[in-house]
Amino acid sequence: MSRIYNFSAGPACLPEAVLQQAQQEMTDWQGSGMSVMEMSHRGKEFMSIAAQAEADLRELMAIPDNYKVLFLQGGASAQFSNVPVNLLRGKKSADYIYTGQWSKKAIAEAKRFCDVNVAASAEASNFSVLPAQSEWQLNSDAAYVHYTPNETIGGLEFHWTPESGDVPLVADLSSTILSRPIDVSKFGVIYAGAQKNIGPAGLTVVIVRDDLIGEAVPGMPVLCDYKIMADNDSMYNTPPTYGWYLAGLVFAWLKKNGGLSAMAELNERKAGKLYGAIDGSDFYANPIDLNCRSWMNVPFTLANDELDATFLSEAKAVGLVTLKGHRSVGGMRASIYNAMPEAGVDALISFMADFEKRNG
Ligand SMILES: *Cc1c(COP(=O)(O)O)cnc(C)c1O
Repeated sequence: MSRIYNFSAGPACLPEAVLQQAQQEMTDWQGSGMSVMEMSHRGKEFMSIAAQAEADLRELMAIPDNYKVLFLQGGASAQFSNVPVNLLRGKKSADYIYTGQWSKKAIAEAKRFCDVNVAASAEASNFSVLPAQSEWQLNSDAAYVHYTPNETIGGLEFHWTPESGDVPLVADLSSTILSRPIDVSKFGVIYAGAQKNIGPAGLTVVIVRDDLIGEAVPGMPVLCDYKIMADNDSMYNTPPTYGWYLAGLVFAWLKKNGGLSAMAELNERKAGKLYGAIDGSDFYANPIDLNCRSWMNVPFTLANDELDATFLSEAKAVGLVTLKGHRSVGGMRASIYNAMPEAGVDALISFMADFEKRNG
């Protein structure tokens, strides 16, 4: 049996070396006689796994000491509500940047808790260009500014960090965390569901500046409260232990492979090749402005959409799978996170050229 190239947007492929290590340790983690799945989260074995994962993530992202790192459940979607619940701190409104379907969902959820000011939007360009910072109508009294650095469905990515002045900047980094170095000190909160670029589904990482913790809206469920989670080292209740362990293996793999600057170089090169192949043909197209194209999710269409089904089935036959675009966008989408080897991108590009030759 051999592994195929899986271009799924999430749950996405994991590094093969990580899966092999997990397999080796599956029934007996380092002489403990147990699987990580069977361990008490309060036992010394799991506590060491948890602490190492956090230390490695802190090192990879250079997370300053005045930030907490939380390992939670509920996916990025739970943070769509937890962000307003924790960050409003008595204020009435928050600023949101509307750049696609994930920011739309974040906005809809925030409206349950506060007034949402859509300070900038990519809607006029049909989500093909990000609104320049100079056009943002930020409100200096907002509790925070929320944006989505990478729109996983549309394939639109910020290659710059917005300025929000004294107002905390909040980022849904779900599909681009760990793809490159970022300056964490510019953010109030960063959150990410694990299943794109960290590990398996079921784990959500939240990185939060500690002065923003402790003023959650009263009456909310305890599991929403960053302070309770931080005070209990993310173990107020049973955490997603196996996902936390696998995330730790991914962090160690990233460190071994040169950390986030090495990833950035590789990701830029992988994406550059694929966009180059798309732009170099009359058969494939990507609608996103050159400066806003995602390194992680590359949507593209065929000149004739009646060929979509044939493209997908022929791709599958040569081991290139999950290339179907999101139902709202159509066409194709290749998600090429850290774990997608460059050889997978090369294989896709040569399949695309061959398909065009036969059908173009
Ligand atoms: C996938 C995704 C989400 C939703 O994540 P869940 O973990 O399924 O809640 C939110 N935001 C972005 C940018 C995503 O890519």
